[in-house]
Amino acid sequence: MKDSLIGHTNEQGTLTVEQLSMKDYLTGLDRYEVFLEKLEENIKQIGDRRITIVYTDIKYFKYINETYGYQVGDALLKDFVAEMVKENNNLLCCARVYSDNFVSAGFLREDLSNEEFRNLIYRVNLEREAKFREKYLNSRLQFCTGISIIDKNSRSLDAETVVSNANLARKVAKEMDEDCCILFDNSMMEGIKREVEITSRVPKAITNHELKVYYQPKIETETLRLIGAEALVRWQKPDGTFVYPDQFIPLIERSGQVVDVDYYVYREAFKFVADRMAAGKNVVPISLNVSRVHLNKMHILEYIRELFEEYKIPSGMIEFELTESIYLDNTERALELVKGLHKLGTKVSMDDFGSGYSSLNLLSRLPIDIIKLDKVFLRENTLQESDKIIISCVVDMAKRLSITSLCEGVETPEQSDYLKEVGCQIQQGYYFSRPIPQKEFEEFMDQKK
Ligand code: C2E
Ligand code: CA
Ligand code: CA
Repeated sequence: MKDSLIGHTNEQGTLTVEQLSMKDYLTGLDRYEVFLEKLEENIKQIGDRRITIVYTDIKYFKYINETYGYQVGDALLKDFVAEMVKENNNLLCCARVYSDNFVSAGFLREDLSNEEFRNLIYRVNLEREAKFREKYLNSRLQFCTGISIIDKNSRSLDAETVVSNANLARKVAKEMDEDCCILFDNSMMEGIKREVEITSRVPKAITNHELKVYYQPKIETETLRLIGAEALVRWQKPDGTFVYPDQFIPLIERSGQVVDVDYYVYREAFKFVADRMAAGKNVVPISLNVSRVHLNKMHILEYIRELFEEYKIPSGMIEFELTESIYLDNTERALELVKGLHKLGTKVSMDDFGSGYSSLNLLSRLPIDIIKLDKVFLRENTLQESDKIIISCVVDMAKRLSITSLCEGVETPEQSDYLKEVGCQIQQGYYFSRPIPQKEFEEFMDQKK
């Protein structure tokens, strides 16, 4: 191990107090602040060279701690450090940022392009993974690495920024199943900027009523009658432009703000139903989407109970849609939520069925009322033979389990006819209507009356 990188010891073999304060107690590496200072110095003297910042996180490390205890976890971290500093003459400095997050900086070999360096680290990671998985009996253990590289053109960047760039690339790598090693590029920054912009504007969008609830009709196959509608949120910015849910829901799911957005949509829908009923007009049950984020705190049941109390509408007027993957992610919690919603008297559907890894045996375990077949089955205007087979099998299976089947994304009369042929009870899609603003939906209902 390199003396300059890993804990200096005095003659007695122990660290001095001054040295201790500069070193990470577990690994003997520089403390992160010291690392940043050293990196800053090296960036100043970069000349024509390039400096690589390699930021690595050990995915599934916590399972090692949980399964084998902290001593084994600590041993793994020390092993990792030994690997990191081993025979690496280009290494300038390295540190443990926190827990199982490590960063190292070094000069890049002249004969390597940035991409070749990434490939090299990628291979090193795979080799290390194999070694560590064997030694620590954990088949999932994975190293996720982000790399940022500075050259004379980017030397004005400070140490913290280049590390945070590498960390950003590391986060991207962590979300990927295959690629454990990603090179930072500026487009990642654009994504983050957009995320920050959107998440910072959401609270105001709610209070200013920039969020609009659209309704998409649901049609009974047998009679072609309107029998319900799904509430879908749209964000109309003050300049009139629309932001669609796919562009902001995933972002606000990460920040947790989706909970407030859902509550806003729910309240609007409850109010809509209550107003129609108070005016003596016909109205159909409205289904509301439930983000996976609600499963963390489960305040949603209390909120819905309060809405029923406040608006005094029959429980049959509201239904909930939970996307398929929610049930797979956390079956116990999902089950608790479904049961809670049933207690409130509402129906629950499994949305996007077939879009991911559907677990058919889950269907018999979960007391859901409706299966919503995902629109992927209808992606082609002329139905594919394989999709036809799946649709008819799912519809058939649902029937046997006494679950209602609904197919979304119906765009053509042929698709609609096929669904009728196989006995799918409810349909939804552009063929009947796009999601429309409340006022238009009211007209739709008035006509259908
Ligand atoms: P989803 O729940 O699967 O909703 C169906 C999506 O398919 C909607 O997209 C709808 O406009 C679209 N769609 C409907 N019919 C057709 C069709 O015939 N062809 C095609 N190609 N598309 C069709 P939208 O409104 O953009 O919403 C996208 C997703 O955003 C929704 O997928 C849902 O997961 C989420 N979302 C929307 N509103 C909310 C909300 O209030 N809360 C939460 N948590 N999620 C919402
Ligand atoms: Ca839905
Ligand atoms: Ca869906």
